[in-house]
Amino acid sequence: MLNPAVHILPLHPAARPPVDEATLVHKQMLRGPFWQKIPAYRDVDEKTFLDHHWQAKHSITNADKLLRALGDLVSPKFVEDAQLGFQRAPMSVRVSPYLLSLIDWANPYTDPLRIQFVPLASRLLPDHPKLGLDSLGERADAPVPGLTHRYVDKALFLALDTCPVDCRFCTRSYAVGIDTEEVEKFHVKAHADRWAKAFAYIGQRGELEDIVVSGGDAYQLRAEQISEIGDSLLRIPHVRRIRYATKGPAVMPQKILTDDAWTDALTAVVEKGRKLHKEVVLHTHFNHPMEITGITEDAMNKLFERGITVRNQAVLQRGVNDTTAVMRMLVKRLGHVNVHPYYVYQHDLVRGVEDLRTPLQVALDLEKDVRGSTAGFNTPTFVVDAPGGGGKRDAHSYEHYDRTTGVSVYTAPSVKPGSFFTYFDPIDRLPEEGQRRWADASEHQKMIDEALAEARRLQR
Ligand code: SF4
Repeated sequence: MLNPAVHILPLHPAARPPVDEATLVHKQMLRGPFWQKIPAYRDVDEKTFLDHHWQAKHSITNADKLLRALGDLVSPKFVEDAQLGFQRAPMSVRVSPYLLSLIDWANPYTDPLRIQFVPLASRLLPDHPKLGLDSLGERADAPVPGLTHRYVDKALFLALDTCPVDCRFCTRSYAVGIDTEEVEKFHVKAHADRWAKAFAYIGQRGELEDIVVSGGDAYQLRAEQISEIGDSLLRIPHVRRIRYATKGPAVMPQKILTDDAWTDALTAVVEKGRKLHKEVVLHTHFNHPMEITGITEDAMNKLFERGITVRNQAVLQRGVNDTTAVMRMLVKRLGHVNVHPYYVYQHDLVRGVEDLRTPLQVALDLEKDVRGSTAGFNTPTFVVDAPGGGGKRDAHSYEHYDRTTGVSVYTAPSVKPGSFFTYFDPIDRLPEEGQRRWADASEHQKMIDEALAEARRLQR
């Protein structure tokens, strides 16, 4: 037995001072029966809580169910606020028991998970005047319903329109979830006919190498549907890469551990792809380090052991992950569970969630602060998905950014050459001068024209 004391090396003067292991909190993930603090789950044992059927069956879909589950954990004032929030939300509401158990109900107004999933009337802000429901123009670029072909070599296939959770910030709130009092949705169901048309289109377009299978959410596909989509796409010679997109690991990691048919189907497509020298991966969506628990670690370890690559696409949100400390921790924890922190998106202009958006400047600052805290391949790129169909642009690559009016201008030469795309900061975060101009409708187009003129001038 070695005596560790003998092997402690003297600290070289040039060496960094050692870091106290106890401060490496990204490695310390929540374990144990944390869900039992919720009155409705007090008697739920681990085997039951890990069962994905139980999680799906007990998901909360309206204010009454939420309040019944929480009992006296929340105040009557919060209850009323949430009830009104649910009524006004353009997005339907669905929260898994797992997610509900991760929220700190002693501080529900500031909890980063509550902010993302449970709307409160008192926190809502008016929408930005330039907001449209399909702000990314996905339907405008769809040659077949539910198939968006915007980038030359990549297509987005919306296989279905349901998710294991309904996120307030969803970019596809025009299509995902059930109709609400505020919005009648454009539905994309899992119909064989529609799928066949999408596969036929992909098969005819030799330039398409990269297919994103999303929705909705790939978690909601049955095992045989995962296989059918994977096999159909792998059969197309020019398709080289497939990404199944799912929020699932962040809201119900149990499924990967206990839905053997689903996980085995995904594994089989990945292995088949590998034999054909084609890449099949999983893209997921963690936004806050608290969403990554010991259960997540077990689930990600299972995928890692099977050789399945997982990448993360986070959304930057006010009060959720808009500080350096939280973003660094998210990035480090993702790396720790072998998930690549691929993208952080500037929040899209989405109806009913203006309170979640941050100015572009926040993304620019965070990127500087985060880069260097871990390996470059585990550092996310901060992007703006340019409204109007410009696609994802590096947040720093704006042609012009007016911090008073909050108008930023991007170009996308390889997607739509010659076009300009504008993004708008949330009005309540602008300086007084900017807020005053947005309060006057006759100023709106002028502010956009000014920003475009400046962008053109700077380009010359
Ligand atoms: S899981 Fe994805 S597609 Fe579904 S509601 Fe959330 S963000 Fe939208």
